[in-house]
Amino acid sequence: MKIIRLKPGKERSLQRRHPWVFDGAVARGGGDAGETVRVESHEGQFLAWGAFSPNSRIRVRAWSFDEAQRIDAAFFSDTLARAIALRTRLGIQSNGIRLVHGESDGLPGLIVDRYGDTLVAQFTACGVERWKAVIADALIGLTGCPRLYERSDTSSRKLEGLPEATGWLRGSGETAFELQEHGWRLGLDIAHGHKTGYYLDQRDSRLALYEYTKRLGFAQVLNCFSYTGGFSVAALAGGAGHVTSIDSSGPALEQARANLLLNGLNPAQASFMDADVNTSLRQFVAEGRTFDAIVLDPPKFAPTAAHAERAARAYKDLNRQAFKLLTPGGVLFTFSCSGGIGVELFHKIVASAGLDAGVDGAILQRLGGACDHPMTINFPEGEYLKGLVVMKKA
Ligand code: SAH
Repeated sequence: MKIIRLKPGKERSLQRRHPWVFDGAVARGGGDAGETVRVESHEGQFLAWGAFSPNSRIRVRAWSFDEAQRIDAAFFSDTLARAIALRTRLGIQSNGIRLVHGESDGLPGLIVDRYGDTLVAQFTACGVERWKAVIADALIGLTGCPRLYERSDTSSRKLEGLPEATGWLRGSGETAFELQEHGWRLGLDIAHGHKTGYYLDQRDSRLALYEYTKRLGFAQVLNCFSYTGGFSVAALAGGAGHVTSIDSSGPALEQARANLLLNGLNPAQASFMDADVNTSLRQFVAEGRTFDAIVLDPPKFAPTAAHAERAARAYKDLNRQAFKLLTPGGVLFTFSCSGGIGVELFHKIVASAGLDAGVDGAILQRLGGACDHPMTINFPEGEYLKGLVVMKKA
C-alpha cells in the first residue's frame, strides 16, 4: 500500500471532506496512475483513501474518508447503486437522466448519463480510468441497460495525461436518440453531440423559459449559443412569436431545425444564424434591433478560478450587449457554466453589465443545474451552472 504524506497544515481540506489534494500539499509519496493510496497528515494520521494522479495538479482524488473502507469492486458497485437509487427517488420525467455526477456522487472523474436504455460515460481522471471495467460491469448490472458508450473526449483528460477514448464499452447499437422532456422531442447523437450528447443540466431552465414565455408572451426571442435549439423549442412551445437561434456550429443548428419540426412547430417563426454571438449582438445593436427575451448560455469561459478574471470580462461584455437589445419589460435569461465563477461573482458581473448598459433590472429568479446534477456542500466547485432571470425595468 502506497502512502501519501501531506505537508503540515494541509490536512484541513480533507478533514472538511473536500475530495481533492493538490500537488503543493504533498510532502512525499507517490503511486501509479489511478492507484489507490492512503493519504496521511504530516503526523501520520489517516485522512482518506484516494486515487493517485501523477500528472495532474489534483494529485489525489478521495474515494473514502473511512479508514475501514476497502476500495474494491464492491465499493464501486455500492457507490454507483446509491447514485442510481437517488435518481430513481427523484422521479425525473425524462428519458435522459444523469445517473452519476462525479464528486457529488463520491466518484471523482466519473459522469454517467442514461439515454433510454443506453448509458453514456465519461472517465475524466486516472482513478476511474483504472477501474473502468469494474465500473462498466457494475453499471450494466445495476441499470439493466444493455449498452454503454464511452465519451472520454474531454479536455480535462489531457491534464491527467490520459488520451481521448470514445466508442462502445459494452454492447452496441444506434447512437442517434430522441430525448423526451417536458413533452418535447429533442433529437441528439450520443457519439457526436456535446458532452454525452446533450445539456441535460439545463432541463429546468428550459422549462422556466417556456413558463415565462407563456406568462409574458414574448414576441421576439433571441437564443444565443443555442446548440440544438432546446431553448428555442421551449420558447416556441410557450407561444413565442419568433425565435432567432445563434450558434457557431452548423451541425448543431441543423439539429435545431429538425427539433422544431419534430415538435410540430412552425419553421416560419424561427431563424437560425451560423455566426459568432459577440459579433451578432454588436451588429443587432448597430441595426437598432430589439428582443423581448434573450437567452445567453455560453460555453465554459472559466474552467477554474485561475481563468476567472478574463472570463468575467467576457461574460460582462455579452450581458451588456444583451441588455442593450432588450425591450423595456423584456427578460434576460443569462447563464454561466464556469466552475471558476461563483454565484456571487456572476451576480456582480450581470449587475455591472446592466449598469454599463444603463439598464435597471429586476431579478425575477435564480436558476441552476437540474437536481440529477446535485452539488455537495463540501465541494463548492460542483456548483458550476448558475443562471439569472432579469427583467429590464420599463
Ligand atoms: N443552450 C444550449 C447549450 C449551449 S452550449 C442547450 O440548452 O442545449 C454552448 C454552445 O455555444 C455550443 O453549441 C457552441 O457551439 C456554441 N458556441 C461557442 N462559442 C460560440 C460563439 N462565439 N458564437 C456562437 N456560438 C458559440
